[in-house]
Amino acid sequence: MPELPEVETVVRTLRPRLLGATVAAVWTSGKGLRLARPIDRAVLARLSVAARIAAVRRKGKYILVDLDRGQAGILIHLGMSGRLRLQAAREARAPHTHVVWSLAGGDELRFVDPRRFGWVAASQNVDALPEVAGLGPDALLEMDAFRLRDLLAASDAPLKSFLLDQKRIAGLGNIYVCEALFRARLHPRTPARRAAGRAAALLHAIRAALKVALANRGTSMRDFVDAEGRRGKNAAALLVYGRAGEPCHVCGTPVRRSLDSGRSTFYCPHCQRS
Ligand SMILES: [Zn+2]
Repeated sequence: MPELPEVETVVRTLRPRLLGATVAAVWTSGKGLRLARPIDRAVLARLSVAARIAAVRRKGKYILVDLDRGQAGILIHLGMSGRLRLQAAREARAPHTHVVWSLAGGDELRFVDPRRFGWVAASQNVDALPEVAGLGPDALLEMDAFRLRDLLAASDAPLKSFLLDQKRIAGLGNIYVCEALFRARLHPRTPARRAAGRAAALLHAIRAALKVALANRGTSMRDFVDAEGRRGKNAAALLVYGRAGEPCHVCGTPVRRSLDSGRSTFYCPHCQRS
């Protein structure tokens, strides 16, 4: 599932090619996406068609495309398997294409999502959409150590689920939570409250994990590609995620994998004490 570095990589590949472009038409497949909800095609078309793209930005794992109509914009979440591709209209559309914005000049921005856990919506005020308004501070750009300390101190949740909660801190998923906790030498099951004194170190570890991944243009475990179809190179740089049984880079102890509520957690039982 694409997390902050993968979403940011998509935004960075799209931004220079989308800025200033005018939307000529919108097409949707009519199939429901996340939770089988249908896209509101009427609103999407009314706000997008004939609008110019004024900004392409990210908050947490959401892509926000601002239009030159007040606060209007488009929200896109890649879900599990969603991709945004910018391709010439003459190129064949991939199977599972669910939304297409035709741009003046002949390119198409295409949302492709085989598993349909992604989401696309448009609004007069994109930042006021509940998906965006409900997010905590962005892990890369907005969170600060004091706020993180206060949030940690107020929670008994295990650190891993604390960091996965987008309402507290936005942008992290399974991969970068594992990486950040390893870098901070914190055990995934440690209650958040007990890590409050380590907030600055934890935030530093989170940003370090994200920045390495950004430099590598994201992690492609399965099918993540950027807006030009390129895979990320970060899998080889992961310290614990996906490395069960392999030696810890710090102490040599085999990296352990545990399974909770269907998600894998990777950690070093020696470096990360609970
Ligand atoms: Zn270790």
